[in-house]
Amino acid sequence: MSVEMNKVIIFNYTLKDDTGTVLDSSENKEPLSFLSGSNTILPKLEKTLTGMIIGSKKNVKLSAEDAYGDYKEEAVQTVNKDQFPKEAQLTVGASYMANSPDGKQMPFVITEVKEQDITVDFNHPLAGKDLEFDVELIDVREATPEEMQHGHVHGPGGHHH
Ligand SMILES: [Zn+2]
Repeated sequence: MSVEMNKVIIFNYTLKDDTGTVLDSSENKEPLSFLSGSNTILPKLEKTLTGMIIGSKKNVKLSAEDAYGDYKEEAVQTVNKDQFPKEAQLTVGASYMANSPDGKQMPFVITEVKEQDITVDFNHPLAGKDLEFDVELIDVREATPEEMQHGHVHGPGGHHH
């Protein structure tokens, strides 16, 4: 079943890992909004939301495969200190962006610092984790022509230009 395109979907969420620890939540913040069919949120989560009635709540369990993918050992790499700009803070937990050969921005986190060797991890922080979302569908509205053109939502919870 295909998801209806070009709707603005506004929802609250609480994200938990498989031990029930809350990782992120829109509680006490603005609800999240996205343009359907724009590949903004996890496909399974989008599919669930687009099948809900406004005002209803649902619990969605996603395997790592349906969430941020498996943890890949090959995404952990060791690079020479000299590869970093001089002013970079080379501490464990620091995150930076690298440019892939095709010009994409690839975020990574430093996981180990030795003399000349810096271990970096390109895995998504939630890779390899089964996740659970508690979602509440707040509203669904038609996207404006401008939003469709930009491919994202404007206004509360979206982009501000
Ligand atoms: Zn825009």
